[in-house]
Amino acid sequence: MKNNYLYTPMPEMHNEMIPVTIGCSYSKCLFCDLNMGRKFYIYPLEEIKSYIKNRKEYYKDKRIVPKKFNLLEGNPLSLDTDFLEKVLETINEKFDIKYISMFARTIDIMNKSDQELLRLKDLKMDRLSIGIESGSDEVLNYHRKGIDSKGQLEALRRLESLGIDYSTYIMLGLGGKKWSLVHAEKTAEFLNKLNPFEVVLVTTVVFKGAALVEEVRNGNFQRLRVRETLTEERDLIGKLELNTILNASHKTNSLPLRGKLPEHKDLLIKKINEHLELSDRELLAAERKKWNIWDWE
Ligand code: SF4
Repeated sequence: MKNNYLYTPMPEMHNEMIPVTIGCSYSKCLFCDLNMGRKFYIYPLEEIKSYIKNRKEYYKDKRIVPKKFNLLEGNPLSLDTDFLEKVLETINEKFDIKYISMFARTIDIMNKSDQELLRLKDLKMDRLSIGIESGSDEVLNYHRKGIDSKGQLEALRRLESLGIDYSTYIMLGLGGKKWSLVHAEKTAEFLNKLNPFEVVLVTTVVFKGAALVEEVRNGNFQRLRVRETLTEERDLIGKLELNTILNASHKTNSLPLRGKLPEHKDLLIKKINEHLELSDRELLAAERKKWNIWDWE
């Protein structure tokens, strides 16, 4: 199988990864570099089956055998349900499974009927990782997410009604300077209507291969400074009223944070406030150091 690097959901990064697709079938979001010139590719079913069989063989003599799986890459849920069913069946046949996760677009959820989603759930599909990015329609529309907040809400409520767990990705700074306030406010409003088991916060990065680069060059998108991103994060967390895990430990964030909501909300805000006491120079130096270290890895 031919992947050089992989995008994996943070809550599922220790799962056994099963390559099913390369890239994302949509590939239009301004900020996203996932496809990076690659074409969306679906591995042939026989190749996927043989990969799963080989993994089973690999674990034959191992003390620890995986129970949690993740299908790669951007949005395997866009695949035909019969095809996905065969993939899940093969994993079920070979392993004693707790659950099988994957990244999913809310549109891919909407494109499946309740019966189709339940068929997949019966084969242990659970804990989907959903890139919501923002609760603001201005931000979603600008970044060409292809769905508005109402549509995203409907998709996640359908998952909840079917008993399928999910985590949500939110991107700090995605509204740039123009929509920072509305992004924090509308995203909190959006999340407060839902029950994700985990909310993952990542910071918007202008990746070399993303269409957002041109938007920054021509002045349409003004990036937040480190201090502004931290302030946005603090505002967002301050407005959250749901029970969930808040995971802001991603490398793109200037301050790694993780805690339970609502129990740790005040503590998380206190940590951000303490970090904000650093001077602009210190914040920038820490940021530069982090990116250099990331480059070496
Ligand atoms: S952000 Fe998600 S939906 Fe958008 S192009 Fe990237 S992988 Fe696809």
